[in-house]
Amino acid sequence: YEIFKQQYHLNLNQQQQKAMVRINGQSLLLAVPGSGKTTVIICRIAYLLQVEKIMPEAILTLTFSRMGARDLKNRYQKLFGAAQAERLQFSTIHSFALSVIRHYERTYRRQAYGVLGNTTPVIRELYQHLFKAYPGEIELAEICQRIGFCKNMLMSDDEIKRLPPLEIDFLKLYEAYEGHKLDEQLMDFDDILKYAWVLLKKYPDMLAYFQNKYPYIHLDEAQDTSKIQFKIIELLTGKNGNLFMVGDEDQSIYGFRGAFPESLLSFKETWPQGEVLLMETNYRSTKQIVEKANAFIKLNHERYQKEMSTPNGSGVSIVREWVKSTEAQYQFIIKAIKQEGKEIAILYRNNESAIPLVDLLDEAGIGYHIKEHSPLFFTHFLIKDIKRFYQFACDPSDLNLFTQIYYKLDAAISRETINQMSKWYRSGDLVLDGLIKKSAGKDWQINRLKELKSGFQRLKNVNPKIGIAMILDDLGYRSYLNFRINSGQSEESIEQKLSMLKILAGRVPDFWRFFDKLTKLEEKLQEPQAKQTKNPLVTLSTFHSSKGLEFEKVFIIDATEGQIPNVSTAPEDHKAYAEEVRLFYVAVTRAKMELIFLCVKNREKDIKPSPFITYLIDGLPKKKRQTSKPSFKTKIKESFGSQQNKWQNYKTSELKMDLSAYQKGTLIAHQRFGEGTILERDGMIATIHFDQVGEKKMNLAVCI
Ligand code: ATP
Ligand code: MG
Repeated sequence: YEIFKQQYHLNLNQQQQKAMVRINGQSLLLAVPGSGKTTVIICRIAYLLQVEKIMPEAILTLTFSRMGARDLKNRYQKLFGAAQAERLQFSTIHSFALSVIRHYERTYRRQAYGVLGNTTPVIRELYQHLFKAYPGEIELAEICQRIGFCKNMLMSDDEIKRLPPLEIDFLKLYEAYEGHKLDEQLMDFDDILKYAWVLLKKYPDMLAYFQNKYPYIHLDEAQDTSKIQFKIIELLTGKNGNLFMVGDEDQSIYGFRGAFPESLLSFKETWPQGEVLLMETNYRSTKQIVEKANAFIKLNHERYQKEMSTPNGSGVSIVREWVKSTEAQYQFIIKAIKQEGKEIAILYRNNESAIPLVDLLDEAGIGYHIKEHSPLFFTHFLIKDIKRFYQFACDPSDLNLFTQIYYKLDAAISRETINQMSKWYRSGDLVLDGLIKKSAGKDWQINRLKELKSGFQRLKNVNPKIGIAMILDDLGYRSYLNFRINSGQSEESIEQKLSMLKILAGRVPDFWRFFDKLTKLEEKLQEPQAKQTKNPLVTLSTFHSSKGLEFEKVFIIDATEGQIPNVSTAPEDHKAYAEEVRLFYVAVTRAKMELIFLCVKNREKDIKPSPFITYLIDGLPKKKRQTSKPSFKTKIKESFGSQQNKWQNYKTSELKMDLSAYQKGTLIAHQRFGEGTILERDGMIATIHFDQVGEKKMNLAVCI
């Protein structure tokens, strides 16, 4: 062992050494960020191979995400060389579960189930079939997420029924979806887990096969493991297997996908002989960072009370850089990166923050590496609308286009007028001219229509930055957006998207190139990682995807209120808020030496810095300081129960609002279905015609 230590210049502390050599039985290492959890896993694997002479094939190392598995393998290679790494298995729990299923199919000669990679199209089709309506992108994403959540939490139908209601009958859709897959012999990612678990339970000889195959199991980021995943690991380990798990419940950030860190608490119940080890020393970051982060996480009360400290030097102060605009923020970053030779990461809460940045980095010829990206930005209604406005400017006789934007022009054009138009409109005529003729006697409207006509004429010839401003101010789109904001769309999110679009627009001379840029960026952001730059100077990542990683210098951009914590997190929703706190904690603990926040501060636009950054740098609000040590287990239970009640109260308070303004014919907006007109109303229940999805009957509380 001493030779092994010297050979690799390992300088592990006592607790880490103890964990490394405790190769028999079950261990749970609960420890703060940067305390060497992953390091211990990696050293332990090498120790098993080199000192204990275990075959690499006998070691299974699991983690939550594919990226995490890849990072583990890379880190192993760096320390101990590539040769052994190839024979070791670093995988996600999903891919392990799939190997169980494939083994079963081969051994028992069963027909192989296909894997349904992308569930969205199937859900969309079933939704349309069942509810005779078209779901929006975000609604679909929410449904898919919920299906995964229910499976990972092993929820019963009754439990599913108690979840906060969606606009549709979720259980009905869920059942139809399950039936569909059965008919088609398909399984989705979460079925893989459930199926593997069932098989391992049902076939003891198969379980024994896997137990013999992998006598040594490691699990990194155990706090992100879901109930069903724990069940698989529990089976695989059995009562006497060798399991080594590491985790930190303060870094649990996948609650929305069914992560269940509470399982860590039952460790001693499952394995009474097992040992729980704790570590509170952070080796990664400077004192400045460690002390501030340690104080910050105390915003959360439902946690083990750990105290993180570090032997590292004090280092430089955390920087809070004020910038005037989002564009100035990006310019600042580019300039800062050019002067650096360090490992740098740029982290952001929301995916779309990366979009204008990627464009600028490309332009500046700076190599970067980007972790996972979600394409939702490009399908947002704002982008579609701007396109429609411009297209109508180019072809002012396109009645079809006009029917998609007439109510966004602040011109009081009614649906009836539009419906009648098809009777008198002759193709080739200018739509607005036709309307002007028909508005005889209504001076206000004629003037407005004339304004619009000349506005659209000018729009054709201006650059897109001015064009977007014109669409907003001259063509009435701003008042439409305000209407959407009043109806529940998040103002921050719309403003954020608008400012991204303006930044991108400012970099091109015409609309044609603007749309082209959007298409190219969309494609680029979806490129697989392999196609990206080989030796990137910077890493771009969401907070979520940055977990487990470390960088000398970390910039956190868009550090404003509404972004951090994420705007959709209602303060009433304690559970989601606590997850935002943990997520921010994960992000700040990535930095080794320097941590820089970029905050846009603009009084005119009412943009404020994120309260989390204020808490981190200036200290927590007094009353929130934790005084007594709570029991983690009961607190979690309490919070789950009370949070549900809060949610209910929140909904009922909405129900009490004044509904007199919402009568037949009133235009309303729904967050997902877009705009619609009330056709009929009976108390809270209204039949609404939506332009995008047709007729729907729904509770007004969810749309106004
Ligand atoms: P996270 O919770 O963020 O995943 P972690 O607990 O897995 O963090 P590691 O990534 O393993 O922590 O380690 C953080 C850093 O500390 C690494 O750079 C590692 O090399 C270093 N480190 C770990 N243990 C020691 C030690 N005993 N002495 C000095 N440096 C150490
Ligand atoms: Mg780690």
